[in-house]
Amino acid sequence: MRFPIFILLNFASVLLGSCTATTPFDSLFYRRTLRLDFQLAGDAHSAQAFYGALRDESQWGGSRSQLIDRTGWGAYRVVMLSAAGDTLYTRGFCTLFQEWQSTAEASTLARAFQQSVVMPYPRRPVVVHIEERRADNLFHPILQLSVQPDTPAIIRDAPVVGQPVEVMINGDAAACVDVVFVAEGYTAQRQEQFLLDVHRMSEYLFTMEPFRRHQSRFNVRAVKVVSPDGGTDDPLNHHWVNTPFQSSFNGLGIDRYLLTEQMFMLRDAVAGVPGDVVVLLVDSPLYGGAGIYNHFVVATAHHAQSLPVFVHEMGHALAGLADEYYDSEVSYPDFIDKTKEPWYPNITTLVDFDCKWKHLLAPSIPVPTPDIPEWRNHVGVFEGAAYSAKGIYRPASDCRMKNNTAPGFCPVCQQAIEKIINQLTQ
Ligand SMILES: [Zn+2]
Repeated sequence: MRFPIFILLNFASVLLGSCTATTPFDSLFYRRTLRLDFQLAGDAHSAQAFYGALRDESQWGGSRSQLIDRTGWGAYRVVMLSAAGDTLYTRGFCTLFQEWQSTAEASTLARAFQQSVVMPYPRRPVVVHIEERRADNLFHPILQLSVQPDTPAIIRDAPVVGQPVEVMINGDAAACVDVVFVAEGYTAQRQEQFLLDVHRMSEYLFTMEPFRRHQSRFNVRAVKVVSPDGGTDDPLNHHWVNTPFQSSFNGLGIDRYLLTEQMFMLRDAVAGVPGDVVVLLVDSPLYGGAGIYNHFVVATAHHAQSLPVFVHEMGHALAGLADEYYDSEVSYPDFIDKTKEPWYPNITTLVDFDCKWKHLLAPSIPVPTPDIPEWRNHVGVFEGAAYSAKGIYRPASDCRMKNNTAPGFCPVCQQAIEKIINQLTQ
């Protein structure tokens, strides 16, 4: 059963630091981050959100002008409303919980997953909603929280998890896409190797379009975190190690799905560090990774395909791109409702193709587009995507969201990534 949770916080005042109001942003917000920790819980058919904590983190690295999410992407979104009901801030995101809901386990078991969202710190009382996209394709609140900005219930300590290092700084965090790498499974002796790995993976990212042509709009930082043991858990090979974020292969029962479920710890590691995309970089030579929209990237550093896998996962985490493959061990038979148009920018069920990449199709392109040499270098509507060979279509015969050997992102994926870059930097 779904029901909203109402939590009212209204305690004695604590004096906050002030800054001169010089922009519309500054009249509404402090240049600080408000983080909301909660649990998403339920089973295959229901979701509830349970409040955990509010935290005051030092600086706001997001845009100060693009406060309303123009993309409409995400299975969930956070919404901040003024006391008068005006929408002040929105941002879409996806969750590990929703992926787990598609597994067989979710039909027989209820589980809870850690979730955090960040937003600019309001100057005046606000209401924050966590909203879930349901079958009607509309967002419905599953948590409603009244926030008094000066309440002592907001945690203001600064967790010390690691040591931030600047890797590539091109400008103000508010005007750049901020990528922050966090070390996982790197022992004390491997911290310099972590920085070398961050440089290597960043340099590869900026060889790929559209990242290459927008490199000057990106900042890259790294957070060194010392791990007691090296590497990560590999349960199917009976390999277990002690690492700060308890990352592990075999996530959701998929051998090469590399995950952490310790979201609060990961958010602690980047508290005060601008991070539009958080990348947990794992000191492992094995193949695997994960990317969830506005949630995280998890990538290994030392497999022969680590670089292309990392960029693929960035497509998920930064731009909400769907997988364009359909022939792997990953099988979520009901992940996409084929009777509706999915929100993902790079797949379509043809229910409402006009809102997708129809404007990029040449007049001569047949719909659906046969995957034959004549059309393989064109933007088309190729059947097979998002773990389903039938009824879901992708924009290109090949793309980095389909294959690690693809030369890069297809034009539709590039356009989606550019849309997010613009939203984060304008
Ligand atoms: Zn693509």
